Amino acid sequence: MKVVVIGGGIVGLSSAHALASRGGDVTVCEKRSLGSASTARSAGGIRSQFSTPVNIDLSIESVVVWESFEERFGVDIGYRRAGYLFLARSEARAEALEDGVRLQTDRGVPSEFLEAPDIARYNSHVDADSFVGGTYSPGDGFADPHLASQGYATACADAGVEIRTNTAVIDILTDADGDSVVGVETEDGRLEADFVVNAAGPWAGRVASMAGLELPIVPKRRQIAIVSPEKAVPADVPFTIDLESGTYYRPERDGDALIGGHGAEVATRDDAQANPDSYCKSADFEWIANALETISGWTTCFGPETRVKRGWAGLYAVTPDDHAIVEETVPGFVTAGGFSGHGFQHAPATGKLVAELIFDGEPSLVDPSALSSERFETGDGRIERNVV
Ligand SMILES: Cc1cc2nc3c(=O)[nH]c(=O)nc-3n(C[C@H](O)[C@H](O)[C@H](O)COP(=O)(O)OP(=O)(O)OC[C@H]3O[C@@H](n4cnc5c(N)ncnc54)[C@H](O)[C@@H]3O)c2cc1C
Repeated sequence: MKVVVIGGGIVGLSSAHALASRGGDVTVCEKRSLGSASTARSAGGIRSQFSTPVNIDLSIESVVVWESFEERFGVDIGYRRAGYLFLARSEARAEALEDGVRLQTDRGVPSEFLEAPDIARYNSHVDADSFVGGTYSPGDGFADPHLASQGYATACADAGVEIRTNTAVIDILTDADGDSVVGVETEDGRLEADFVVNAAGPWAGRVASMAGLELPIVPKRRQIAIVSPEKAVPADVPFTIDLESGTYYRPERDGDALIGGHGAEVATRDDAQANPDSYCKSADFEWIANALETISGWTTCFGPETRVKRGWAGLYAVTPDDHAIVEETVPGFVTAGGFSGHGFQHAPATGKLVAELIFDGEPSLVDPSALSSERFETGDGRIERNVV
């Protein structure tokens, strides 16, 4: 089975590896360098605290790989299981979080709902008076996306994947009827294939349009900064998220913290529909100031002596319901995109799904309709609520 994967981010690499492991003859076309787009700009968060069955299942399947990554691929990805702590300021949001915990625990995720006074058990720096409740899972954490990409890239090479960097796909080839995809046109010539996988991250909508398809995947700019807080953030503090303001922080090395967020309180420009070829990759000074001010409103670490070390912006690729599209969109053309803020962590399960779609015709891991683009026409999709 000949497969061309478009995109050498974490999703393309995981898919290529899963396909080659099942005997596929796989070529990855990456227009720049491996893992250099959204994957390099991620916060590296890995969690099972999602609000829909499909996202929880993708996490459970992926965590198995993240936990054993070094054994499987020989690379230590710095996986730290400090947990995730979600915080709710309103009763309605707390109830929604509690519903999510029911769904998660039914599937074996060790998450728990917390009344406000219990929040301090997991993060004593949070101003518990600002919140009515929260949820925590000790199984969640974060890892280094660069190291994970490297691990997958090496594993791909070992499994016989041909990796072509600096090779942009400029067109998708179809058969004479125009019904089936039969290969790609690159800057260096044609590649015929039984299947083409669109793993182009924020460019996925554009790549789909090369095949005459319209997919609702839109790039949105998101920002992150690394700061040296006034009060060091200990390594065991969870990835802590205020869902209301959309702001979050997690420990980095040596007491530093990574901060992020994009809610109305911190936004500095309209970051929707960013152009992936020309968006501003630096963090805005005003955004950093707003984010620090907002986060210091609900936690005690980020006083006025906090120093900003560096910051950057990257792109989420979002769909209207914050769930990915993973499907054979037309014969021979598999889409794996639109992961919002959870494409890094869901990459291992996605690779497996892509390989199942191509070798078995349908995925065994999850309900295929939940990740099909048809859901936007039928209105059957569910919105993921636990997103920042
Ligand atoms: C600020 C920020 C924080 C995030 N935090 C998290 C987090 O904590 N946890 C998490 O799970 N996710 C997080 N994400 C999301 C995560 O980074 C993405 O979902 C994930 O990296 C998507 O991987 P990908 O391989 O689909 O896309 P990418 O890494 O963008 O890879 C797509 C690749 O396709 C290539 N490409 C595009 N068009 C073509 C073409 N025509 N020909 C050849 N190659 C092409 C690009 O060059 C690129 O390398 C975050 C994202 C951002 C921006």
